[in-house]
Amino acid sequence: NHLPLHSYIFQNLPEFATHPCLINAPTGQVFTYSDVELKARRVASGLHKHGIRQGDVIMILLPNCPQFVFSFLGASFRGAIATAANPFFTGAEIAKQAKASNARLLVTQSSYYEKVKDLHGQLILVFVDTPPEGHLHFSELEEAEEGDIPEVKISPEDVVALPYSSGTTGLPKGVMLSHRGLVTSVGQQVDGENPNLYYHSEDVIMCVLPMFHIYSLNSVLLCGLRAKAAIVLMPKFEITAFLALVQKHRVTICPVVPPIILAIAKCPDLHNYDLSSIRVLKSGGAPLAKDLEDTVRLKFPNAKLGQGYGMTEAGPVLTMCLTFAKEAIDGKPGACGTVVRNAELKIVDPETEKSLPRNQPGEICIRGHQIMKGYLNDPEATERTIDKDGWLHTGDIGYIDDDDELFIVDRLKELIKYKGFQVAPAELEALLLSHPKISDVAVVPMKDEAAGEVPVAFVVRANGHSDTTEDEIKQFVSKQVVFYKRINRVFFVDAIPKSPSGKILRKDLRARLALPLPN
Ligand code: ATP
Ligand code: MG
Repeated sequence: NHLPLHSYIFQNLPEFATHPCLINAPTGQVFTYSDVELKARRVASGLHKHGIRQGDVIMILLPNCPQFVFSFLGASFRGAIATAANPFFTGAEIAKQAKASNARLLVTQSSYYEKVKDLHGQLILVFVDTPPEGHLHFSELEEAEEGDIPEVKISPEDVVALPYSSGTTGLPKGVMLSHRGLVTSVGQQVDGENPNLYYHSEDVIMCVLPMFHIYSLNSVLLCGLRAKAAIVLMPKFEITAFLALVQKHRVTICPVVPPIILAIAKCPDLHNYDLSSIRVLKSGGAPLAKDLEDTVRLKFPNAKLGQGYGMTEAGPVLTMCLTFAKEAIDGKPGACGTVVRNAELKIVDPETEKSLPRNQPGEICIRGHQIMKGYLNDPEATERTIDKDGWLHTGDIGYIDDDDELFIVDRLKELIKYKGFQVAPAELEALLLSHPKISDVAVVPMKDEAAGEVPVAFVVRANGHSDTTEDEIKQFVSKQVVFYKRINRVFFVDAIPKSPSGKILRKDLRARLALPLPN
């Protein structure tokens, strides 16, 4: 498929012109497919009017809202590139991304003005609400005549999106995704015949994951648009508001991350909501504990619960439960599904890079048109990640079972090295979460003279269990694991720090270990 992203997304527009496209949860405002397409074309003209040329970068700093979508698609129509930043970023972090990506224009809201005002001069500031003195209002982009976009010739290899990786293991990296890449990826996820497997126009999709992250931008927004589903935009997760929206809009698809699955599992008044409309509950972005998966599965007997596995550089989806190869989404608990269509997956020995047989864990590698073109301005890092044969090395450890299902063990970089043994934090976290007195947990390595590293746990005690002791927890684990996986210390905390894409911020916890911890 050689269409530019926006042409592909709106390919069957006439048939769905009056179909609801975006539902803005805070206001209830609904935009149809023709509204959204028209807004995007107008924004493209507005971008042109304000000097944005083909190949230029615009930056989006917004929570989920309709203008985010208009800006992103407007950039695509213009032949420009959109990069979105985490609205929680500090001014310095935003400035860094703006500079690295050489962004020319920023679409944001006035509550972030303090953080972005110093960027004025370097780029044009556009506000979706009342603009501070001297800056543009979004309507000035939108009101441009739609006929004013110059003819642009877009090649499938042109970059259209520049998402940043989450920065879990180092600094966030700018990832170049082309029109071809995103069209391929969206097609791999939703272009299928079987309405029980793929998204379709009767679906109502919950968009609560932040669109600045590629999981939400691609697998929720773009996939929803391609399928002509209705997309509910929720700017911020909060469990009861989330459940109320599912009930109100009869949401059918909920793509979420493990912390949301955890919130659902622990929600005491789930039964007060009618959640019967949900047909698919999809978790991705971080490991999902098996017991947690089982618990939530029982609460949604009529829904399919499954995982997907993504990585920004991979475009982002590598495997999902909802694939061509499968009859139904219900995979085995703990499985991340099978590889998406028209892509190849292999498991290699991280040292020798030789392919490994089934059921043997090694580094997960993927190849296909959907993967990134490379890291922005970093050919060396690109070369380290994509080998000469086109395989993207993920840095994640996993294995493929006899039914082609992928199981992720953990990240190579996060494995705890106890003498010659390797311990996966995710495995211990899953075990600890099954303890009734533990509401959340993270496992990280601590330096140890004899062993090199030992696993230690940060634990949030469940409500009403403030008397749970370190010994109790250590013994619970010891009884179930081999000696080198035993938890060496337990630190009780109020919350586990997590990223908006659902990942435990282990760097923060490791940093805390450098200080003496009162216990
Ligand atoms: P950085 O590369 O900047 O350190 P990051 O890798 O966390 O950050 P993302 O691209 O957002 O940035 O995340 C991709 C990673 O998320 C994968 O490499 C994998 O480790 C993890 N991940 C995604 N989905 C799953 C899943 N279903 N199970 C386990 N891990 C997952
Ligand atoms: Mg990564």
